[in-house]
Amino acid sequence: MSIAICPGSYDPITLGHLNIIRRASRIFDRVVVCVMHNAAKPSPMFTVEEKLDMVQRAVSRYPNVVVDTSDGLLAEYARQFQGAVIVKGLRAASDFEYEFQMNLINKKINPEMETMFLTASEKYTFLSSSVVREMAMYGADLTGLVPNEIIGDIQRKAQLWRKK
Ligand code: ADP
Repeated sequence: MSIAICPGSYDPITLGHLNIIRRASRIFDRVVVCVMHNAAKPSPMFTVEEKLDMVQRAVSRYPNVVVDTSDGLLAEYARQFQGAVIVKGLRAASDFEYEFQMNLINKKINPEMETMFLTASEKYTFLSSSVVREMAMYGADLTGLVPNEIIGDIQRKAQLWRKK
């Protein structure tokens, strides 16, 4: 069985992420979406539990997609799925530089691990979780940026943050 792992911070999941997950789910038998606790991004908007819940609702329409979480290194996490391929989205040259470096480091830790990149769909190349967080803080309409089923979650959280 072919397995893809789609790692990310998903703070929150966007339609850009979902586009990559859906495309991976057509290529691989099974897709594991892994919400990573990212030490490089120290103050997330959402807790891991909230992110897992939102990702779960967003991918529930895809029968071969499951959701998991890890607070370790991706290269270590991937060892439990034999032959699994990491699938990531590439938006721009800046993504490429970062991903290329990460891939080299991951290969040092786990030489068996392979990474595949899918180019972002044109309509989502501008989209990132940080853009969504910023738009939400200004009370902007999030339609077309994130899955409809999580818009309420983000608006409620942004309201709480505005009161801080
Ligand atoms: P972000 O960079 O938005 O904080 P993550 O750290 O959660 O997102 O990213 C997880 C993966 O999803 C990365 O491989 C990233 O390149 C990819 N990704 C994020 N946004 C998009 C998008 N709009 N289109 C395609 N891939 C994306």
